[in-house]
Amino acid sequence: MKQFQYVRPTSQQSVIDALTKPGTKIIAGGSNLVDLMKHGVMSPDKLVDINKLPLRDISSIMGNVRTIAIGALALNSQVAEHAMIKERLPLLSQALNAGASAQLRNMATVGGNLMQRTRCPYFYDTALPCNKRNPGSGCGALEGFNRMHAIFGQSEKCIAVHPSDMAVALAALDATVEVVGKKGRRYIAFKDFHRLPGDHPELDNTLAKDELITNVIVPENNFAKNSYYLKVRDRASYAFALVSAAVALDIDNGRIQDARIAMGGVAHKPWRFYEVEKALKGKPASTETFEQIGELAMQGAKAYKENAFKLKLTPATLVEALKHAARIA
Ligand SMILES: Cc1cc2nc3c(=O)[nH]c(=O)nc-3n(C[C@H](O)[C@H](O)[C@H](O)COP(=O)(O)OP(=O)(O)OC[C@H]3O[C@@H](n4cnc5c(N)ncnc54)[C@H](O)[C@@H]3O)c2cc1C
Repeated sequence: MKQFQYVRPTSQQSVIDALTKPGTKIIAGGSNLVDLMKHGVMSPDKLVDINKLPLRDISSIMGNVRTIAIGALALNSQVAEHAMIKERLPLLSQALNAGASAQLRNMATVGGNLMQRTRCPYFYDTALPCNKRNPGSGCGALEGFNRMHAIFGQSEKCIAVHPSDMAVALAALDATVEVVGKKGRRYIAFKDFHRLPGDHPELDNTLAKDELITNVIVPENNFAKNSYYLKVRDRASYAFALVSAAVALDIDNGRIQDARIAMGGVAHKPWRFYEVEKALKGKPASTETFEQIGELAMQGAKAYKENAFKLKLTPATLVEALKHAARIA
């Protein structure tokens, strides 16, 4: 591993100042970044440890819309087990508990989870081509090992998927990411935080180089009673999703008033199904309704040599998650 400088500032401003120098990276729990440094995938000159910043709170905020603010340094385990999150945002709690292992969730932070890099094997192996790690070198996965890869929103430059479970639930729940940088504070709608690969797969998200995530803000909603996170993976634990579904329904008198659906393991970012959400509105919350939306959900999907199974697994996972959310599974 390349030698690097390490600092542990106590103020947000010092972190932002440090980030303006090229080659500087934030470290939080270290559970992704240190791995990548050991593999030689990322080689920062300087690490800015943000653990001394007061960014661990989880609190309810009264405003025009009641929201829950989750500090960027709140641990994945803390958030998953927090009484208010379990009661009001159970989808988020379930998604977090589906990720990694108990030990990792005790290290991993909310900010780090959002910023974790893809698990595409071509990204991790520095001997292989990867446009995300080394722009212009090609995408090894296009014609190579692509079992875990995207079926929506991919480009000729990159077919990797985003690995986070938590982010899929936050996408469904219409969260906002609060960030602070040289130009001040701004709020990024979750749908605009992660990017599709396009011509620049090296860019995972829209955070500027000098910006720090401070909070994730989730509006309160009517979905707590009928939401479900379903993760399909090769092993029952400690494995990334082949496909996952975060679904949230507002059901009144057996009819769907509103729906939110995002899926993981299918795209470079958590993938929202806006058309399916619209189609579900006003329909009875029944197996028949859910089985009818499979075709609509898969419009525009494209598979590769080894991930064609996702064309069937994706709608099947979605229907199953919807049935669980509606409590008819
Ligand atoms: C074996 C293993 C299995 C795993 N399985 C899963 C799984 O099933 N599901 C899942 O979702 N995840 C899984 N993970 C990933 C894990 O959730 C992430 O490693 C973790 O969430 C990263 O958080 P961290 O605080 O350790 O981030 P770090 O490693 O410290 O940082 C990761 C990145 O985030 C940036 N960063 C951190 N905090 C901020 C901030 N506040 N503002 C701006 N940038 C920031 C860093 O600069 C770095 O680029 C697994 C990890 C391992 C090692």
